[in-house]
Amino acid sequence: MAEGSADRRAFFNQPHVAYFSMEIALANGIPTYSGGLGILAGDTIRTAADMALPLVAVTLVSRRGYFRQELSPEGEQIEHPDPWAPEERLRKLRAMVAVPMNGRDVWVQAWLYIHESRLLGRVPVILLDTDCGSNSPEDRRLTHHLYGGDEAYRFKQEVVLGIGGMRLLQALGVEVFQYHMNEGHSALLAWALLRRYAYPPEDVRPGESAYDFHRVRSLCTFTTHTPVEAGQDKFPYSLVTECLGDMADLPVLRSLAGEEALNMTRLALNLSEYVNGVAKRHAEVSAQLFPGYQVRAITNGVHPDTWASAPFHRLYDRHLVGWAVEPELLRRAAYLPDAEVRTAHREAKEALIETVRERTGTALDPEKPILGFARRMTAYKRPDLLFKDLDRLRAIAAQWPFQLVMAGKAHPQDEPGKRLIRRIHDHMGVLSDVLPMAFLPDYDMECALALVSGVDIWLNTPLRPLEASGTSGMKAAFNGVPSLSVLDGWWVEGWIEGVTGWAVGDSAESANGTDAESLYHKLSAEVLPCYYDSPERWTGIMKSTIALNASFFNTHRMMRRYATEAYLS
Ligand SMILES: *Cc1c(COP(=O)(O)O)cnc(C)c1O
Repeated sequence: MAEGSADRRAFFNQPHVAYFSMEIALANGIPTYSGGLGILAGDTIRTAADMALPLVAVTLVSRRGYFRQELSPEGEQIEHPDPWAPEERLRKLRAMVAVPMNGRDVWVQAWLYIHESRLLGRVPVILLDTDCGSNSPEDRRLTHHLYGGDEAYRFKQEVVLGIGGMRLLQALGVEVFQYHMNEGHSALLAWALLRRYAYPPEDVRPGESAYDFHRVRSLCTFTTHTPVEAGQDKFPYSLVTECLGDMADLPVLRSLAGEEALNMTRLALNLSEYVNGVAKRHAEVSAQLFPGYQVRAITNGVHPDTWASAPFHRLYDRHLVGWAVEPELLRRAAYLPDAEVRTAHREAKEALIETVRERTGTALDPEKPILGFARRMTAYKRPDLLFKDLDRLRAIAAQWPFQLVMAGKAHPQDEPGKRLIRRIHDHMGVLSDVLPMAFLPDYDMECALALVSGVDIWLNTPLRPLEASGTSGMKAAFNGVPSLSVLDGWWVEGWIEGVTGWAVGDSAESANGTDAESLYHKLSAEVLPCYYDSPERWTGIMKSTIALNASFFNTHRMMRRYATEAYLS
């Protein structure tokens, strides 16, 4: 045990939950995340610290980040590396472990980030790093690019995360009573546990397996985030055996992870006793996708302290003391004075308008409503649904003036996603006389907070049932911003028509044509008229959005459920 004794006392003095995630949004300036999955992981850690849950997180250091997005005036996405220096912000741990890689050992070192909650609960986060002198130049790059490279690079990253992560915790002497895999990327963790806890040959009776499946399953919790088969990580067994060598044990691996290819979701499903989806609808869809497995539902949330903007912090602090650690207190938001809610929102809106002006030069009008849309730019999220019928949109904006702010990155290999960004920029040009609009580059946590708090209406139009949960609408709720959204993911649970926002389409299958029609109808017949003609009712909607949705869709509720139903049961 090489670490300082103070560390041991502070962090490793009791059994922990070990939370594994390929990406974690830790703080601004640490670009180790790409989007929703990483934000959820970060909010999980922040809440565990608030609640003083004994949790240690494991992720990759991603020294070059995901990517920094620049946008040309035509909406061409230009991708820059987003490097950061862990040595400037974090402390290097002395422990190092090796993982198998194509017949050699790759060394994994680690950095320690400590998240401290305002309540002084702390969560250590271990960031795995292969960029050290003992590795070849190629291996040193394995933990550089989040979701970068080809299939082999991705698999090796998952070896570092799952196998390297388990070994590092072991080397540190962290006692773990439950492992939680946030999405399938870390499923090799369960495989490594199976190998670690195998019975010695002399204790195995003829015809029985040396593996203690029961023990490993009882140690593992798995949260799936992908509602479609095509979205799951799959690797050819040729790659798996080449990389893992003796560790592969193909007959057993095949029986757990699929005959054709190693499906990380299958592996995690088969080795986890507790499996859950991230919203009730998503758990139903997952149960259909994985017949024979029990998939429970723990609906996602967001971290209160992180996602309430400064003006709403102050408002809640004045009237609902303790809200950040007991967000249930927000259910009394109905009693917040209307004028103070409006003032807080106005402040957040002006901050967003200033950000938009600084970053894009576009001037927005605080008197007119702003619609916000920001998320990964990819086909199923349909960021262009609003633009389906430009004449119709033009007519609505002429009658009920509104403005639009958008943001989002497309994965560097997602050509259709990049085309969407260009097309949105085309529409911006064509509509500029009636619909003031801005696209903020480089969507990150800071940008997200400005957006979800500064707009008046949060728009979401994914293709059903592909939105597993969605969380940005929950962030908006913490700032009194109602949603106008397709009934998918969390919104199925959060939606009360005209009270917490509005539905686009019905809950059956999506169709581009009818969803667009429904969106135009809701905007022109309900949402915008309410904003202009019934300001008091609008403030009421803001307050009920807080009372009903912020009080519920938070990571405090989520973590209490993980603790009692997954970790401790
Ligand atoms: C919240 C957030 C997301 C996820 O938003 P969804 O609505 O779940 O798509 C993605 N990126 C950033 C920067 C965020 O803050």
